Amino acid sequence: MAGAREVQASTRLIYDQLQCFVQALLHPSVSCTAYPTQVCIQQLPVRFPAVSGPVKEFHTSAGLRAPPAVLLWLLVKPLHKVTAIILGRSIRKWWKALPSNKRQLFREWAWQRRWRLMGVGTGLLLFISLFFLTYMEETPVTGRSRLLVFSRENFIKLTDHASEMYLEEYGNSFIPDFDPRHQVVKRVVQHLADRNRDIEGMNSVPWTVHVIEKPIVNAFAMPNGMIFVFTGMLEAVGDVHQLAFVLGHEMAHALIGHAAEQASLAHVLDLLSMILLTMIWAICPRDSLALLGQWIQGRLVEILFDRPYSRKLEAEADQVGLQLAAKACVDVRAGPVFWQQMELFDQIKEEPTMPEWISTHPSHHSRITHLDHLVPEAIELRARCGCPALPDPDPRAVFSKIAQKLLEDAEKGKNKAKREEKERERAAGTQQRVQPQLGAALVISAQQQTLLSKEDLTEIRLLRKEVEPKTNGS
Ligand SMILES: [Zn+2]
Repeated sequence: MAGAREVQASTRLIYDQLQCFVQALLHPSVSCTAYPTQVCIQQLPVRFPAVSGPVKEFHTSAGLRAPPAVLLWLLVKPLHKVTAIILGRSIRKWWKALPSNKRQLFREWAWQRRWRLMGVGTGLLLFISLFFLTYMEETPVTGRSRLLVFSRENFIKLTDHASEMYLEEYGNSFIPDFDPRHQVVKRVVQHLADRNRDIEGMNSVPWTVHVIEKPIVNAFAMPNGMIFVFTGMLEAVGDVHQLAFVLGHEMAHALIGHAAEQASLAHVLDLLSMILLTMIWAICPRDSLALLGQWIQGRLVEILFDRPYSRKLEAEADQVGLQLAAKACVDVRAGPVFWQQMELFDQIKEEPTMPEWISTHPSHHSRITHLDHLVPEAIELRARCGCPALPDPDPRAVFSKIAQKLLEDAEKGKNKAKREEKERERAAGTQQRVQPQLGAALVISAQQQTLLSKEDLTEIRLLRKEVEPKTNGS
C-alpha cells in the first residue's frame, strides 16, 4: 500500500507539473517551466482544452482487416528460408549426382559464357535496384531518402492486427481513464499533437493512449497512433518534461513510419538472404556446414544491417521527438537528463550493458551525447515558437551533481558493506571459508534497492533541492 501511495504521489507531482506547464502556455506571464517546480499547483482553475480531437479512447472491436496481398506476404515470408534451403540442397545433390565428365563439360560451358553470364547477373541486379528505386521516398520532418515498399495505409492495416494482440495481452492491466496517470499521459500526447499540427500526418493519426500497470520502464507507439505506456516508465521519468520528451520520441516513430521502414528493409534483406542461403546450401558439402554458414550469415546481416539501421532510426526519433517537445514549449534539456538518469540507474545497479554494436538501441551515453548536441537548436526552435525562456540552472548540470553524489554514496555503501562483512567474519571466528564477495554483494544489493526503489525519485528530488541553490550561486 505504501508503494501505491508513493506511485500516486509521484504521479500527482507529474500531474501538477503538467497543469503548471499548460498554465504557462495559456498565461505566459506565469513562470511555470522551472525544473522541477510546483509553483502553479494552487493557481489553477485548470483551463485545459477539452480532451477530444486526436486523443480518443480505444474500442475493443475490429478483427483482422489486413488486405489479401498483405496477408499473403505474411504467410509467404517465413517460407523464404525453407525455399532457399530446399533449392540449395537440390542444386548440391544434382551436382554430386553428375558424372565427372558431365561436370567438366558444364564447367567448360560456363567458362566460355562467363561474360554473358556476368552480364545477365549485372542486368538482373540493375533491374532489381531500379525496381526498388521506384519505392524510394522522403521521410517527413527530416527529409531523408528511404526505401518504403509498403504504402502507409497498408502498413497501418498490417499493424492493426499487432495492436489487437497488444490490446488482448495487456487489456486486463490497463489503468482506468479517470486515473491521474492516464490523464497525464493523455494530456501530454494531446498537447504535443496540438502544438505540432503543421507536421505531415500529425492530424491524420488518431492518437490513443493506454497505460499499462506494470513495472516495466518502456513505452511504444504503433503506426496507427496507439500509444502504450507502462507505469514503470511513469515512475522512471523525473518530471512532465521528461515524460513529454519520451512521448515525443514514440510519436516520432509513428509519424515518420519507422516500423514500415524497418519492415521494408527486412523485406529487401529477406530477398538478398534468399540468394545467399541458396548459395550457402548449394556450395557447402555437408548439411552441418551449411547450417553453420546459415547461422553466420544471419548474425552478419543482423550486426551489419539490422542493428545499425535500428539505432539510426532511434537517433532520428530522438531528434524529431526533441523537436516536437521544443514546439510544445517543453524544457528540452529534460531529454538528455532522462538518459542521464537511465545511465545512472544502470551504473548504480551495476546492470550488465550490451555493447552498442550488437544492440538495437544506441547506448545511453550515445543518446546523451547526441541529444546534448541537438539541445541548442531545440532551444532556438522553442524560442521561435514563442515559448517562455528556460530557467536557470540547467537541469543537466544539476543532475550531473546529483549523479556524482549518488555514485559516491553507492561507492561508500559498497566499501562499508565490505568492511562490515569482514568484521562479521572476524567476530564469528569461523574457520569455514566464506564468500566475502557474495556477502558484500547481497548487502550492496540491499542498499541499492533502497537507493533505486520507488524512493528513487523522491531522493533525487530532495538532492536536487539541495544542489540547486548551490548551482544558482556558482
Ligand atoms: Zn524508440
